Amino acid sequence: MNTPHIAIVGAGFAALTAVRTLRKRDAQVRITLIAPRAELVYYPSLIWMPAGLRRRQDLHIDLSGFLAQQRVEFHAARVTGLADGGRTVLTDSGTLANDALLIASGGRFLKGLPGIEHALTICEGTTAAESIRDRLAALTGGTIAVGFATNPKEQGAMRGGPMFELLFGIDTLLRQQGRRDRFRLVFFNPAKAPGKRLGEKAVTGLLNEMKKRGIDTWLGHKLTAFEADKVRTEGGDFTSDLILFMPGMTGPDWAEASALPLSTGGFFQADAHCQVSGADKVFVAGDAGSYPGPDWLPKQAHMADLQARVAAENLLGALAGHPPVARFKLELVCIVDTLDRGILVYRSEKHAIILPPCRLFHWAKSFFEWLYLRPYRKTAGA
Ligand SMILES: Cc1cc2nc3c(=O)[nH]c(=O)nc-3n(C[C@H](O)[C@H](O)[C@H](O)COP(=O)(O)OP(=O)(O)OC[C@H]3O[C@@H](n4cnc5c(N)ncnc54)[C@H](O)[C@@H]3O)c2cc1C
Repeated sequence: MNTPHIAIVGAGFAALTAVRTLRKRDAQVRITLIAPRAELVYYPSLIWMPAGLRRRQDLHIDLSGFLAQQRVEFHAARVTGLADGGRTVLTDSGTLANDALLIASGGRFLKGLPGIEHALTICEGTTAAESIRDRLAALTGGTIAVGFATNPKEQGAMRGGPMFELLFGIDTLLRQQGRRDRFRLVFFNPAKAPGKRLGEKAVTGLLNEMKKRGIDTWLGHKLTAFEADKVRTEGGDFTSDLILFMPGMTGPDWAEASALPLSTGGFFQADAHCQVSGADKVFVAGDAGSYPGPDWLPKQAHMADLQARVAAENLLGALAGHPPVARFKLELVCIVDTLDRGILVYRSEKHAIILPPCRLFHWAKSFFEWLYLRPYRKTAGA
């Protein structure tokens, strides 16, 4: 057989970890990365942008040096669908044949709630984070509402951690600026016990932290709409001068055009080996997939990395004619940052741990960012 050609969709956490795993295990294999831009956006530090601790240029990492070093071809395009069971990738800039495919194009947010345009969603990237920074700076007082929701068709498809970080970060920022007394902060969520996936102790810990900071809560009421100055729920409405909201997640916009099996929430349906169910040599890693596991299985970068390693290993095995054996570890690790402190949350099949806010974890989160991005910050030719 000629040198096999692997196509990877995406240039985020899962895609790049897969590249490194593949290259480490096979020096010869041909790898093509397909994404709109050869850059990694480091989402976990977006929460520091509203306070000015990070700028856009700190979080958009040019990948040209890394890709050259790893001998990866880059196809600048947006994938629009698949043909031949995945052997042909359809893009807005031509088609691409492959011998094996890894999907790592992340998820997207549900935008169905009426008036959703009145809310800012930090997960949309640096432009949204800059808008939050500017709106905060312009406000002289009032109410700031911060909340998140899930995908009703797939309860695990949510991203709550960053919204707790944004909430605590704004509280800290306003205190640092000496104007916290002019604002009311409200945390809203349709669930009565938000953040349950982080563990029961974590829910209590996070709600206690809100109480300590004088943050009001609006819990257990289904959201019905947003207005320019209002959050509407089945349990009543409240006014707000700034609404920060993370909707539930769903799969990539091209998933339906792939003819691959999808979960009820619209993600690529995978097995414990990160293989797309019933598809030949098609794997998925990270936020784009739906995987078997406990109900707290997170959609986070750490999990995307764990899945990408497994997907890459099994993909190489499949090319060699072996059945998949590698399985990803079930683990949730995050530091909920409060701008000057961090709360460590860890969950596995055996443990659920939450450690109270301390400065060390804030610095650890920052150090981890530096460490994580180091291999990708290569300059071309270096
Ligand atoms: C504010 C915020 C804070 C977070 N904090 C943490 C944290 O502290 N810890 C943690 O572990 N996780 C955190 N996360 C979650 C983490 O960032 C995601 O889980 C992670 O980015 C998922 O990685 P991924 O590779 O699956 O997708 P992504 O990182 O989203 O990458 C998807 C890639 O696919 C590309 N793409 C999209 N559509 C197409 C297409 N049609 N064709 C080709 N390419 C496409 C994109 O351009 C991108 O390169 C945070 C997320 C946010 C937003």
